[in-house]
Amino acid sequence: MQERDQSFGIQMLSVQPDTKPKGCAGCNRKIKDRYLLKALDKYWHEDCLKCACCDCRLGEVGSTLYTKANLILCRRDYLRLFGVTGNCAACSKLIPAFEMVMRAKDNVYHLDCFACQLCNQRFCVGDKFFLKNNMILCQTDYEEGLMKEGFAPQVR
Ligand SMILES: [Zn+2]
Ligand SMILES: [Zn+2]
Ligand SMILES: [Zn+2]
Ligand SMILES: [Zn+2]
Repeated sequence: MQERDQSFGIQMLSVQPDTKPKGCAGCNRKIKDRYLLKALDKYWHEDCLKCACCDCRLGEVGSTLYTKANLILCRRDYLRLFGVTGNCAACSKLIPAFEMVMRAKDNVYHLDCFACQLCNQRFCVGDKFFLKNNMILCQTDYEEGLMKEGFAPQVR
C-alpha cells in the first residue's frame, strides 16, 4: 500500500485545553499551558512542535506543518528536502529537490546527466560549457558547431 502523500500542509490548531490535561506528543509530559497545539490528531506544547531540520517552532512560522517519513518539517525544509526541482533537461526525469543539480540558464540537470551531449565529456568546476539548442556542449563541440554554421547560408 502506498503511503498517502502529504505534500500539502497539515493544519495546526491552537486550542485551549479542556479540563483533562492532554499529553504532549513531543515530550510525553502533560500540557498545562494556556494554549496547546493540535496537529496530526495529537496535542503538543507550543515549544515541542518543532521542525526536525531547523528547530524552528512551527506554531510561530505559520499555521501549517509538513510531514514525510515520520519527520515534521516547516514548509521551507519540506520543500528543500522533498520538493521537486524540476525535470532534468537531458534525461527528462524528475529531480528531487534534495539532490545536487547542475544548472544552465533555466535548465536543471542531474549531476550524472550533466555532460556534453555530443561527446559525453563531463565537466569539472570551472570548465566551460555551452548551451545550444538546449543541448549542453563542451567547448570543442560548440566551436565545431559554430564552424559548420559559419559555412551554412545565413538565414534571416
Ligand atoms: Zn511537550
Ligand atoms: Zn525547518
Ligand atoms: Zn537526468
Ligand atoms: Zn563534446
